[in-house]
Amino acid sequence: MPTEPAALGDGAEAGPLGVLGGTFDPIHLGHLRLAEEAREALGLERVRMIPAGQPPHRGVPGSTADDRLAMAHLAITGNAGLEVDDGEVRAAQKSYTVLTLERLRAELGRQRPLVLILGADAFAGLPSWHRWTELFALAHIAVANRPGYAPHGRRWPAVLSPALDAACRDRITNDPAALRHRPAGRVIPFDMTPLAISASLIRDLLRGGHSARYLLPDAVLDYIDLHNLYR
Ligand code: ATP
Repeated sequence: MPTEPAALGDGAEAGPLGVLGGTFDPIHLGHLRLAEEAREALGLERVRMIPAGQPPHRGVPGSTADDRLAMAHLAITGNAGLEVDDGEVRAAQKSYTVLTLERLRAELGRQRPLVLILGADAFAGLPSWHRWTELFALAHIAVANRPGYAPHGRRWPAVLSPALDAACRDRITNDPAALRHRPAGRVIPFDMTPLAISASLIRDLLRGGHSARYLLPDAVLDYIDLHNLYR
């Protein structure tokens, strides 16, 4: 197993912080339930939602980074367990998760457990991410099921590529308590309420003149209407 940070001493009191990045184009109830259910199921103190400024793995988003950031703020209003981080939107370079986790480490210290939350589709693509093998030294990784994502008819962890499988095999745990004992390095699958909602579905509906109501918060939909986004 690759090197990972030492076990926590008695001094590390703060609970694990969840980290949920995404293009959030727009943010929807799938993202919000992912954050909320990860927080509960994994005992996270809070979940930090981090909209990507310039997502490296896809084309230009359908709305600006500032709009996506504003929608994320609207979406979490009233939920003290969630927060929004504008670091990737403000950064001049592409939004690489490894850089964001390095920034969070500098901000929060070496001992604070960080939990990178990913849907199964994002997790499967991990080997294409910038400096991906370094992510395990920076954070734990929590992987949620995602409806429609079951290549070869099988669900994770049966579908890992050989490289990802080799990187994860010795790290997998089903015990959320394991996330508190170290700052980083474990991989934990968890089940969330299956929600077959995606931002692309919402963009398609809006582009086609259809209703996207009840797939995303009303406040976000109002913002989309007000600014005439995705038409
Ligand atoms: P798009 O349809 O534009 O590709 P998306 O809905 O997948 O967007 P992203 O912002 O790319 O949204 O996703 C951010 C993170 O949220 C990823 O880890 C993704 O797997 C996860 N995610 C998004 N929607 C869901 C969902 N309905 N259930 C579980 N995870 C989700």
